Amino acid sequence: MTAASAHDHADTAAGPPAAGRGIFDHDLLSACISCGFCLPACPTYAQTKAEADSPRGRITLMRALEDGRLDPDDDTLQAQAGRCLGCRRCETVCPAGVKYGELLEQWRDHQWRGRHTPPIAGALRAGVRVTPALAAAGMARGAARATGAADPSRPHLMLGCLERTLYPKVSKAVLRFVPEADVPAGQGCCGALHAHNGSSREAAEMAARLGDVMPGTIVSTSGGCAAYLAHQLGHERVKEISEFLMARWEADPALIPTLRRLTVDGRPARVGLKDSCQLRNGLGVFAQPRALIAKVADYVELPSAGECCGGAGTYSMLQPTMSKAVLDPTLVQARAAELDYLVALNVVCTRQLEAGVKRAGLRLRVLHLVELLELALPD
Ligand code: SF4
Ligand code: SF4
Repeated sequence: MTAASAHDHADTAAGPPAAGRGIFDHDLLSACISCGFCLPACPTYAQTKAEADSPRGRITLMRALEDGRLDPDDDTLQAQAGRCLGCRRCETVCPAGVKYGELLEQWRDHQWRGRHTPPIAGALRAGVRVTPALAAAGMARGAARATGAADPSRPHLMLGCLERTLYPKVSKAVLRFVPEADVPAGQGCCGALHAHNGSSREAAEMAARLGDVMPGTIVSTSGGCAAYLAHQLGHERVKEISEFLMARWEADPALIPTLRRLTVDGRPARVGLKDSCQLRNGLGVFAQPRALIAKVADYVELPSAGECCGGAGTYSMLQPTMSKAVLDPTLVQARAAELDYLVALNVVCTRQLEAGVKRAGLRLRVLHLVELLELALPD
């Protein structure tokens, strides 16, 4: 079978794959019934209307890889392993419960080996580590300071490898709302970026190590890190900051700090949100950030709020054209909605939104949720 026929005939691929190469979990790969319900939900399919750019088309390609009809040298296979955003929106509409995100990890583990590894993914796998230099840079830039060994009786604030240097104020802001949190020293990476870039075994080891350094409850300000760590260590242990704050404030309203309503030019501030895909589609967390924004400003739901921003880990570097195209509707909607702030829940989303806002010449600020809430604290 050629790559073209693999995706042209996706609708005939309902049966389980034949005895395979062992690249994929057989049950996961067999689950798709090729119904196509996922196609309208997929951001890349929305751009091109090509079957190969859809979840169903990609699963057909995976099956062809698994049963030997295609090998990793196939151009469409190689292209589609990178074209998928990994946003998992397809999972939320799938009647068969296909775990697409896990299939994608297994695909990239196999596909992105040796000369097939995209250079950016390879560099990331080799280079993203919390080295002493990175930790020092984070502290120098003003991120929350490590407090020593973890105290199991306290929630632990996870600093994140990119956020501590790119957006150091985020961790500081968290401590204003969760002052009892400690910041354990010796935090490594959670492994999420590695899992999504063809190195899931190494990623699982990184997550386990981080769990050992932070026994008990872990609080993350990054939706992607939280979702991956929760998958590895258990959602009961790992909480993204919006779900942590909402649960805390609902359980004990006395802990809700005094928050003023934000204004811009004397009127209520208008604030939009861009969900973190992994947080929304992987962990099912989306009501909490909206509720928190509404406590301090006029929340404006953009039509594309729940759709991928196109950042998607390394995606904006691997697929810059598609990455921008996926984000563009949000920029148009943000302009029409006359937003003052656009809130993100993940460091890569923040970066992507900032770049888009600059490109579009919008007059709004991109902030992490806790930075927005911090603006509402009394001086
Ligand atoms: S909705 Fe689910 S079962 Fe249907 S084609 Fe998409 S992945 Fe397969
Ligand atoms: S993960 Fe996102 S981009 Fe990839 S197939 Fe699913 S919906 Fe499409």
